Amino acid sequence: MAEHESLEFGKADFVLLDNVSLEEFMANLKLRFEKGRIYTYIGEVVVSVNPYRAMNIYGRDTIEQYKGRELYERPPHLFAIADAAYKAMKRRNKDTCIVISGESGAGKTEASKYIMQYIAAITNPSQRAEVERVKNMLLKSNCVLEAFGNAKTNRNDNSSRFGKYMDINFDFKGDPIGGHINNYLLEKSRVIFQQEGELQRCFKCIFQLMKGAPDAQLRSLHIQRDPTAYTYIKVGGQIKSSINDSADFKAVTDAMKVIGFTTEEIQTVYKILATILHLGNLKFGSDGDVTLIENSKLVSILGDLLSTKDENVEKALLYRTVATGRDVIDKQHTHQEASYGRDALAKAIYERLFCWIVGRINDIIEVKNYDVRVHGKNTVIGVLDIYGFEIFQNNSFEQFCINYCNEKLQQLFIQLVLKQEQEEYQREGIPWKHIDYFNNQIIVDLVEQQHKGIFAVLDEACMNVGKVTDEMFLQALNGKLVKHAHYTSRKLSPTDKNLEFDRDFRIRHYAGDVAYSVVGFIDKNKDTLFQDFKRLLYNSSNPVLKAMWPEGKLRITEVTKRPLTAATLFKNSMISLVENLASKEPYYVRCIKPNEVKSPLLFEHERCKHQVEYLGLLENVRVRRAGFANRQIYPRFLQRYKMISEFTWPNHDLPSDKEAVKRLLQSCGFEHDVAYGKTKVFIRTPRTIFSLEEQRAEMV
Ligand code: ADP
Ligand code: MG
Repeated sequence: MAEHESLEFGKADFVLLDNVSLEEFMANLKLRFEKGRIYTYIGEVVVSVNPYRAMNIYGRDTIEQYKGRELYERPPHLFAIADAAYKAMKRRNKDTCIVISGESGAGKTEASKYIMQYIAAITNPSQRAEVERVKNMLLKSNCVLEAFGNAKTNRNDNSSRFGKYMDINFDFKGDPIGGHINNYLLEKSRVIFQQEGELQRCFKCIFQLMKGAPDAQLRSLHIQRDPTAYTYIKVGGQIKSSINDSADFKAVTDAMKVIGFTTEEIQTVYKILATILHLGNLKFGSDGDVTLIENSKLVSILGDLLSTKDENVEKALLYRTVATGRDVIDKQHTHQEASYGRDALAKAIYERLFCWIVGRINDIIEVKNYDVRVHGKNTVIGVLDIYGFEIFQNNSFEQFCINYCNEKLQQLFIQLVLKQEQEEYQREGIPWKHIDYFNNQIIVDLVEQQHKGIFAVLDEACMNVGKVTDEMFLQALNGKLVKHAHYTSRKLSPTDKNLEFDRDFRIRHYAGDVAYSVVGFIDKNKDTLFQDFKRLLYNSSNPVLKAMWPEGKLRITEVTKRPLTAATLFKNSMISLVENLASKEPYYVRCIKPNEVKSPLLFEHERCKHQVEYLGLLENVRVRRAGFANRQIYPRFLQRYKMISEFTWPNHDLPSDKEAVKRLLQSCGFEHDVAYGKTKVFIRTPRTIFSLEEQRAEMV
């Protein structure tokens, strides 16, 4: 803990609160925020409050202050956590990870960038060219991912619409030699639809292209600079001048080049964006029974952009091939089916593009042929920046997945924070008593359990050959979960005023109640893209595009396996994410958003309190205090406090530092409040630390 900071800034570690109550916690958080102290510890966890203003605390000099220091030696900071994770990795050969959580706009992505910058700044003292190259690419990859994965929303001008986990690999010297990125559930529906009303936008890359590309490039893509000309983005398309899309366009294109994308690849990326914009403008009409495309000029533009024949484009948009027994026939779409197919195509090619970009970055930054015999073990620091808990006016399948993800991470947090404490006591040979906390495993099970969980019921509904509606899915849920303490619905609780709609079900999440509308669950879970589109893209004469769609190779009669549903894919990716994190030594950053209006001054008490509650921060403090508030290795402890005892000042003549610390604490009358581990002294109450600090202050 950072006990040296002046108390006028409040307590630098919540463990030091006189009483662990929500009131005191909030008062301390607010005081620190108002004093410009945006970071506070709970032991080794950093609590961060978004300052919404530029802070002069990330510069080179600050980095130097934190480099190689212990947590409690400096005021709380992200850099201290990054350094702790780095030291554990380097000195103890441990894989570590930094888990950053909090709701949208709380400051997760900024935090992850500062952490990366810190790691980049403190490594490679010998300036090896290869390492510098890797560092540069790791930092540049952020810029590209943000362009394609971030959008402006009501909550955040630069909101990440995907989850990101990035591993950085280090060699035996502790220098970065590569990395790997995993991305999770891109919000692809944003491609075709953004909320009306406030200024809300599609992915940033679209606007960057539109504003920043040279005239000739736009001409070749048949794109105008006016977002309102495009149906998919015109709702939220108004461009605010504060966002410098045209400079960003250049920066992103340059970053792609630096990372190693070829010119043809970069061109293809922009062709795909243009394709999406044109797709949105396609209008279907009918002539008698025949469905047709009203603006056929667009078809030839699409043919050009996708490097395929116009008639192939037209056919894929209007027909689907179906196998009936041994025959294969072309079946014409209805008007509605054609529109559905068009939108599904736009979303799918964007999602595929995004995954392809991540894959290309990985190809280039991944450590290849690392020889353990020559270089020693290659260790990893992982950084997780993933969407926080979401409660909107209208919550759908996406929010359901995101909130499930947060349940998983909360479960991990509970296990690890406790597990880690217990393990440390064991390692140090100190007895430990168990303490209670709310275990959210029951909610995780409610979602992911085999056969009975909500995902399983949803998948079963989607497997059904006949037409299954969202309402039928809801009925099935009601049947299976009628007795579940964390599930209810309008049908099951007809008098519940908070369940307004017949199509809602409600989950009691650890972070609060959320009502989800089942509308769209079946479609979003099936996530159907007609095979005809896959074939169309696979048969493109553009090799980059073709490579993105390998499954288009299959003929209709060969497509037998049903693709995994969106829910199953997401569940599997979450399970492996959690397994991965659990195998590493975790460090936590818990981000809090102080207000809804991006103000640097406003600390909205109720909002903040709610976040503190659902992040389980108070429980975290209690767990930490139920054990020992503070622990320090013997030599460090002596170094700090030896001046307060005649037995240790200026030097001691006892057989070990451990004996010396014992003697010092006895002479101050604290021996009842401490335990002596193998390498560390454990101090139970913060008051003891205060006293030690006070005595120290008198001496120095
Ligand atoms: P999240 O990823 O949690 O949704 P971001 O990290 O994108 O949130 O932060 C949202 C905005 O808040 C940023 O664009 C920036 O303006 C501001 N912000 C966040 N963290 C900081 C910080 N440490 N210093 C200054 N501004 C910040
Ligand atoms: Mg973000």
